[in-house]
Amino acid sequence: MDHFMNFINGEWVEALSGDRSMTHNPARISEELGTFPKCSAQDVERAIGAAQDAFSTWAATPAPARGAILLKASQLLEARLQETAQAMTREEGKTLAESRAEVGRAVEILRFFAGEGWRSGGAVYPSSVAGELLYSRREPLGVVSIITPWNFPIAIPAWKIAPALVYGNTVVFKPAGHGEQSGLALVQAFADAGLPPGVLNFITGPGSVMGQALVSSPTVKGVSFTGSHPVGTHIYTQAIPNLSRVQLEMGGKNPMVVLDDADLDLAVTLAARSGFGLTGQACTAASRIIVQNGIADRFRTGLEAIARKWVIGDGLDPATNMGPAVSQAQLETDLEYIQVGQSEGARLVAGGAAGPEGGYFIQPTLFDEVHVGMRLAQEEIFGPVICLIRVENLDEAIERANSISFGLSASIMTRDLHKAFHFANAVEAGVVKVNEPTTGLAVNAPFGGFKNSSANTFKEQGPAALEFYTRQKTIYVNHG
Ligand code: NAP
Ligand code: MG
Repeated sequence: MDHFMNFINGEWVEALSGDRSMTHNPARISEELGTFPKCSAQDVERAIGAAQDAFSTWAATPAPARGAILLKASQLLEARLQETAQAMTREEGKTLAESRAEVGRAVEILRFFAGEGWRSGGAVYPSSVAGELLYSRREPLGVVSIITPWNFPIAIPAWKIAPALVYGNTVVFKPAGHGEQSGLALVQAFADAGLPPGVLNFITGPGSVMGQALVSSPTVKGVSFTGSHPVGTHIYTQAIPNLSRVQLEMGGKNPMVVLDDADLDLAVTLAARSGFGLTGQACTAASRIIVQNGIADRFRTGLEAIARKWVIGDGLDPATNMGPAVSQAQLETDLEYIQVGQSEGARLVAGGAAGPEGGYFIQPTLFDEVHVGMRLAQEEIFGPVICLIRVENLDEAIERANSISFGLSASIMTRDLHKAFHFANAVEAGVVKVNEPTTGLAVNAPFGGFKNSSANTFKEQGPAALEFYTRQKTIYVNHG
């Protein structure tokens, strides 16, 4: 069993209280993985202080030199990909293939932002005054707090931390419970790549206890959060008095529309991947499949067959298609919503039960005859539960897709280009896919939701990250 530590000011340290909490494998509940420091506000203040002390030197370090450290970290993480992926599967439960893909993605993110170190300059503007140079420069914000969820425990920290660092900010990073070890693997790669002390600080413990100090400290100039809508909105209110910059990416209840002319096999395969893959624990998971009447019965038969066929088990077993829910609490939430769906009159077609025993396992679950007004069709479950909503035509499908408070990702399965583009224009979602799963994102393009899925302030990833992690200064130089 491992004894993990915080990383503050370049040193591996305990929480000031000495308290620790245990983490275990969701696929083998009796298997204890290790203990992590249980930090409080005092530890947060210590980490923020270290980040503040490190800031001026790091900000003054040339961006290409900062990028070189990111590149080194990407190489180290890539060399550790297999062991990091195995640890992630033990910690979070996703299959080893899913963990490998995620660590690989974190490697790519670091590589992308390493290159951005060469491209982060400002702009020169035409001046209306003779003899004047008018230009802008990008400056880092200062200390930023990064708060992440457990479901992509290395990719999300990577897509926040990499741009924060390359643009010259210093970071206090708090991973979620059930995601600490994966977050630590990223921090370890940075530490080993030679990041100066205090530039990246890692503190573990309960968000409910540490949150206020992370968000409302006047030293913190930016907060980047990914997680649930209730926690995100709470954080937003706490950041207001400081007028600090806030980025929130939150829940989803993402639609996949399947039209009559869709490639049936592809639609079934991608619906299963989007809705049951990652045990449904993706913010971009498809939990509402809006299917046109002409194809609905054949589509349902296909998806039902996959739900019955998929092997549920320990993600380390190569035969496993779907790992466990991350925790007892998440499993209970999944089962509760399955009850709610049945009591609302939706028709349970496949799955619906927990099991096999020994882990927080749940069957891939399919409901038919779901109506948009049901809680089953409105609230984020974050489990492998797919609702089928039947519609007459594309306009009705778009209306149903948009009848919700969330707007993260959406996809359509069709061979008709006109319909595909009409959907892409009309659907209220920050990410739209055509003949692709609702999940999966490019590292070099902006990402973020609409409506209650986001604070709607700044996008993440790709060139959009520059906007959040820098402030612009405009400079007028009269040399005439
Ligand atoms: P969560 O419960 O909201 O927690 C997210 C993070 O916030 C965790 O690190 C958590 O720490 C911390 N936290 C909890 N209470 C806090 C507080 N009062 N102040 C500050 N921080 C606090 O979300 P989760 O259960 O980890 O993740 C699942 C959610 O994330 C889903 O809603 C999913 O849709 C969303 N998500 C969104 C995206 C996206 O990009 N839109 C991507 C992935 C996931 P503890 O773990 O210690 O409580
Ligand atoms: Mg949580």
